[in-house]
Amino acid sequence: MSIREFFFIAAFAAAACAAWRLWTRLRTAQRRHQATLTELRGTHVEALHAHTARLEAMLDSMIEGLVVVDARGRIALANRAAGELFGFSRMMVGGTLLEVIRHHEVAALAARVGGEGAVVEHEVRLEGPEPRVLHLSAVALRDAAGAPAGAVLVFHDVTRIRELEGVRQDFVANVSHELRTPLSLIRSAAETLLDGAKDDPAVATRFLEIIDKHANRLTLLIDDLLLLARWDSGRVELKFQTLALRAAAQDSLDDFGSVARARAVTLENTVPAGLVARADPDRLRQVLSNLIDNAIKYGRPEGRVTIAGRALAGERIELSVCDDGPGIPTEAKERVFERFYRVDKARSREQGGTGLGLAIVKNVMQAHGGEVRVESAPSAGTTFFLTLPAMKAN
Ligand code: ADP
Repeated sequence: MSIREFFFIAAFAAAACAAWRLWTRLRTAQRRHQATLTELRGTHVEALHAHTARLEAMLDSMIEGLVVVDARGRIALANRAAGELFGFSRMMVGGTLLEVIRHHEVAALAARVGGEGAVVEHEVRLEGPEPRVLHLSAVALRDAAGAPAGAVLVFHDVTRIRELEGVRQDFVANVSHELRTPLSLIRSAAETLLDGAKDDPAVATRFLEIIDKHANRLTLLIDDLLLLARWDSGRVELKFQTLALRAAAQDSLDDFGSVARARAVTLENTVPAGLVARADPDRLRQVLSNLIDNAIKYGRPEGRVTIAGRALAGERIELSVCDDGPGIPTEAKERVFERFYRVDKARSREQGGTGLGLAIVKNVMQAHGGEVRVESAPSAGTTFFLTLPAMKAN
């Protein structure tokens, strides 16, 4: 080999070595880069998963139903409450709003909001075995260029609020009616007196009696209304005591001695001596008075009203007020505890009833941790049962 060839081969070998070193360095750098990329991708995917999970948890903890629709009207996102309200599962996300929630009005509103960029507040009704009223707030979405990108729909279930509003309106209407009836009778009696009836003592007495009767009814009604308002606002505090029930029943019966005699009704107390309950004596007296009053009023003239009592299993005692009157029709048995419900309105009013007595009884018993129920059959009398927590006698 000539010197020239030797140098040529040496230079070639040196260049090859350098190229090899460069290539291995490049390969190592590339591997490192790839590892860093994979690591970074992993971290981002993890962060994305954590972010999505947090978002889902937040959306699922909302009591309002939330649905996001894209520009083509397909559901892009929905939370659990929305699924429960409309009866769909997460699997159906991706379908059109109409396919998934099957409500034309909502689908039309979402399309309008998405298209016009409007904000809409609206109330929608869901029909079905359990009808619901939903308050819908819909807001349009825009993409970065300001083009329509769908809408966010938030559904708030206002069924209970609407029901309570209905109850309140009925209650106000009932109260106005109940107040107006005795007031108009008082006014017309006063007018008749002023028109000359006052000059005839016998006629004047009759009209004054009417005024007295209806003024009393108004007083009773207002007392009962105020009492119920106090129960409703939780302002009645019970003063619990260990109460001997036979004596408590007798005290209440004694209050009605003359009323019972006027209708020749026999009052009977068969509560066993030694039966004791945990109760507020004044409130229990109020309950028993309402039930005895009703039993005499609606029971049979010359009939019998009995208060009985017994210990029940599970540390509870039962008191009952029973009459042998015409009874309560089956369809009215649960309704008699509603405010202003009466089986026979005219008869109740004639007897001075307010229609609130049994509603008060129910409230008082619930506040005692007890309950009231009625058993009755036409012509077979009526028995109201009260259950109370028992208490051992000292
Ligand atoms: P009211 O002031 O009219 O007596 P309540 O709330 O005490 O109001 O009773 C509601 C209705 O239940 C009464 O109007 C009456 O129709 C019916 N009722 C209550 N107790 C009896 C009973 N012992 N026998 C028959 N009906 C009764």
